[in-house]
Amino acid sequence: MKITFGQMRAMGVGGVLVYCHCGHHVALDADCWVDEVRLSDIEPQFVCQGCGSRGADVRPDFDRGNPKLAIIGAKDATH
Ligand SMILES: [Zn+2]
Repeated sequence: MKITFGQMRAMGVGGVLVYCHCGHHVALDADCWVDEVRLSDIEPQFVCQGCGSRGADVRPDFDRGNPKLAIIGAKDATH
């Protein structure tokens, strides 16, 4: 699944998880990438701080996005 940041934000997800094959990973805000950029486009830009290898696996951070949706849902429920 290769999606753009715009599509990801449309799903309510505002962050990405960047995984290295060594197991090192980092959570980043997606604010600095424009809607037209695909997640796969930025994968070669990462150099792992754990093992130093270039290239990573970038995935939508659904775990961080879901609580935001839950909060929005809770607000709507109080109307
Ligand atoms: Zn690594």
